[in-house]
Amino acid sequence: MTANTTFSSATRPNVATLYLSAPEMVRLICRQGVKACIAGIAENIRADFLRWPDFDKSARVANHSEDGVIELMPIADDRLYSFKYVNGHPKNTRIGLSTVMAFGVLADVATGIPLLLSELTLTTALRTAATSALAAQALARPDSRVLALIGNGAQSEFQALAFQHLMGIESLRLFDVDPAATAKLVANLNHSGLNITVCASTAEAVQGADIVSTLTADKTNATILTPDMVQPGMHINGVGGDCPGKTELHADILQRGSVFVEFTPQTRTEGDIQQMPHDFAVTELWQVLAGQHPGRLHAEEVTVFDSVGFALEDYSALRYMLETATALGLGETIALIPEMADPKNLFGALLAQ
Ligand code: NAD
Repeated sequence: MTANTTFSSATRPNVATLYLSAPEMVRLICRQGVKACIAGIAENIRADFLRWPDFDKSARVANHSEDGVIELMPIADDRLYSFKYVNGHPKNTRIGLSTVMAFGVLADVATGIPLLLSELTLTTALRTAATSALAAQALARPDSRVLALIGNGAQSEFQALAFQHLMGIESLRLFDVDPAATAKLVANLNHSGLNITVCASTAEAVQGADIVSTLTADKTNATILTPDMVQPGMHINGVGGDCPGKTELHADILQRGSVFVEFTPQTRTEGDIQQMPHDFAVTELWQVLAGQHPGRLHAEEVTVFDSVGFALEDYSALRYMLETATALGLGETIALIPEMADPKNLFGALLAQ
């Protein structure tokens, strides 16, 4: 037997890839329930953040254009590799497209076989909400019951449900410069059991809030939250400042609060702390989850989670989706990689036609 034919179909691993389209993901989330998906992804994120040193980490690669950005987000441990393709185009909603659209892959490190090719637009909303709630569990006052949501677009329902389910939030205070976005959010949360107050400004919305999530989309250095709006003991979940030149928080808020980040090298260029000197003190969330840092020190402290979205959260979410789709029998097996009797005879695949 020559070296070319040592691989029999019996020894060759299965190279089939599971494909989860956007409609199939809708079916998966509806079968599981949004809250169960968020809780399951949050559990995976916590478990993976606790294995922080195991991961080969890098800041995402971003290609910027005038109105947006397209990013690639890779990460791996010694077993699984994942990447996400994601854009950020705040003007997209004007032409009927989402600001954020994504897909990604989970692959086997030992062979490179792509195990899962999945939509990640819905999944990004689930994993961002899961990460926000996980950070708030570690950093916000445990008696937090009122959440202000500034920016009521695509991410907002997921955030509201994550905070209700994982943090015990009972009341929402909402503001968006687009009243139709707020009306959509109110209608979508009609049966959630949350008490909802629609406000006329950010300043009004944050009054009495224990936690403030900023979820606005504008490719500019915006000042959504100013120091006068921040009360002692508040936790700020800054989600929309996630790209160079795109921030939401006044720099004095970052000076006043204790700032927590996902992966420092990425957040220094993309997060709200891009406004601060390069040696500005931050703590990584995994250190708090691992008990290496106490997180909130006292009830009056202002805590800031300067979220930009890190590849490990997508790795955790892709793991959840692969396990769940397999358990529910959802998704379609696709032949993304050519199968050959002789792996060195790639050209032979063309001759077989
Ligand atoms: P979206 O376009 O669907 O919604 C954004 C909303 O913000 C819109 O309704 C818009 O009217 C509102 N808005 C804009 N400027 C405002 C202002 N000054 N005050 C109040 N509201 C304002 O976008 P989305 O998908 O909900 O994403 C929200 C933001 O979160 C985006 O900036 C996105 O890039 C970011 N994001 C971050 C992460 C992360 O992990 N950190 C993940 C996903 C999205």
